[in-house]
This record gives sequence, C-alpha cells and structure tokens, in this order.
Amino acid sequence: MTSEFEIIEHYFKKKIKQTALGVGDDAAIINVQKNYQLVISSDMLIENIHFLKNTNPSHLGWKSLAVNLSDIAAMGGKPKWATLSISLPKINHVWLKKFSEGFFKCANQFGIDLVGGDTSKGPLSISITIMGEIKKNQGLLRSGAKINDDIWVTGQLGLASMGLASLQGELKLAPSLKVKCIKALEMPTPKVSLGYHLSRHTNSCIDISDGLIQDLNHILKASKVGAALLLNDIPCEKFIHASKQYQFVLNGGDDYELLFTAPKKNRPYIEKIAKKTNTAISVIGVITQNKTLKIMDQKGRSISFNKKGFDHFA
Ligand code: ADP
Ligand code: MG
Repeated sequence: MTSEFEIIEHYFKKKIKQTALGVGDDAAIINVQKNYQLVISSDMLIENIHFLKNTNPSHLGWKSLAVNLSDIAAMGGKPKWATLSISLPKINHVWLKKFSEGFFKCANQFGIDLVGGDTSKGPLSISITIMGEIKKNQGLLRSGAKINDDIWVTGQLGLASMGLASLQGELKLAPSLKVKCIKALEMPTPKVSLGYHLSRHTNSCIDISDGLIQDLNHILKASKVGAALLLNDIPCEKFIHASKQYQFVLNGGDDYELLFTAPKKNRPYIEKIAKKTNTAISVIGVITQNKTLKIMDQKGRSISFNKKGFDHFA
C-alpha cells in the first residue's frame, strides 16, 4: 500500500450512516433536515504547535475530532459530518492504523460520518471541518449573556495545561494526578450532549480552548457586559489551591469544557440536563453591568490575575 488512494481507501473510507454520498467522488453530498441550519467549524492541529512530537497517534486521532466536536457543542448543535485533511511526512502504517482507530473511536461514540477530506505529503498536520445541524435560529451564541446571568462551567479546569507542563518537565505531579492530566490533554471529552440540550435554557456559550479568562472575555465583549467570578468556586484539583498555581485554571489552554451563562431561574432545568447527560457543572460567578472582569477570593477581595490566554501570535 503505497499510494494516496490506497491510504484513503484503507484507513479513512468507512461505512456512512447519515450521508447521501461520502468518500470516493469529487465531493460529498449531505441531506439536511427541514427547519434546521448547518453549523460548521474547522480546527487545525499542527505538530509541535498543537501537539508534541511523538504524541500517541490514537490519542491524536481522537483529539483532532474531539476539539472540533467541542465547537459544535458550544453552538448547541448536533455534530454529524466531518472532513479530514491530513499531511504526512511519509507513509507509516503503524501510525496511520492507530491514528485512524482513535479518530473513528471518537466518530463512532458521537455519531459522526467522515465524508471526505484530502491527503498529501508534508509536515504532520491535521485539519478537520465539522458540520452539524441546529434548529433554525436556536444557535447558542457568545453574544447573548444578560446582566445577572449565572456563569456556569462544565468539568474541572486546568487539567490539560497541567498535563502539558508536566510532559514538558515544568511541573511535578503525583503519578495518579499526572495520568489524569495527560488524559485530559490528549483525550478531551467534548460536551456534545449537554450543549445540544442546553440550547433553550441558556443565553450564551463558548468552549474553553484558550483559557477561562480569555474565553470568558470573548463572551463579555460580544455581549457588552462584565463578570464577577469567585475563585474558590472554580472547579479544579486540590493541588491548585494547595500550590496557588491558579494560572493553570485561569489561563491554561486545551480544557474543552463549556462555559455558558443562563438566567438564575433556569438552574433546575440546567441541573436536570447535567444529570441526564452525566456532566459535572458548577456556577462560578455572575454577569455584571460593569464591563470588567473581576475575580474575588473567599473574603470578597478582588485578586489580580494574568489576563492573557493562549494566542499563537502573541
Ligand atoms: P480530488 O483529487 O478530486 O480532490 P482526492 O483524490 O483528493 O480527490 O480524494 C478522493 C476522495 O477521497 C474524495 O472523496 C475525498 O473527499 C476523499 N479523501 C481524501 N483524503 C481523505 C481523508 N484523509 N479522509 C477522508 N476522505 C478523504
Ligand atoms: Mg483532493
């Protein structure tokens, strides 16, 4: 197996379940339900920029799709179709087998058809476009946050950036915590089901990929509001409180948790959806009229913090 076409046929052409025409022609054809809109997003993963050299290829296959699914989750959509464009320095069958296994493990878990893509020789890079459906005009935007909304977050923050720091030898962690953090970094779980069911009960939503502060600021700017957060209410490891290394929680990237705002009266619905979808959620603060972001400690004192998140060109 030495050609581009054999690679596609062997590793990437899989049975499709919800697509009119998949891999094999010049383009794919998909049917969209009446009264729904397409929701589309792309994410690139480039070696040494988005992932370390020698990352487990199966984990990389999972993560490439998972980070894309997270964007559709943040829009309240149902992800259905993906395209995969990949450049490889050489044909490595062991790598391709593991990568495609990880990719399709994620695709099967979340009901995604791979419908096309492109394959080329080049430095290792992966670019995925994800498409999903959303009920007409029910997309969850960044711009809808209202004063006095609760600010919610899923899961635990900071794990992925702690995992990266520990792999890079910059952070020493107990063995079991290290395993948990590296798993969060390499195999994030996109909050697809929660995002989809939330859409009627929330005012705004974003997925946290570049750090809590930076991504919350996107909501604040788009919605023309401010926020007050309680540091102690942000869900994270005990290690963070003990070591006071809050930068992992506030500025660390790659969490792929959802951050959303909703009226206080919707708490019971939101808690019900979280329970149904088996997702941990926490209220970490409130949307304010004053267009700044404040973080308070237990005694109600404003703490100073680094406002920067991840920025490729910073
Ligand atoms: P073209 O030359 O017309 O662009 P290609 O030879 O690039 O076609 O691709 C042939 C078919 O294989 C197309 O259906 C394309 O979408 C699909 N394809 C190519 N690379 C991949 C990939 N990595 N994953 C899934 N489908 C792919
Ligand atoms: Mg092509």
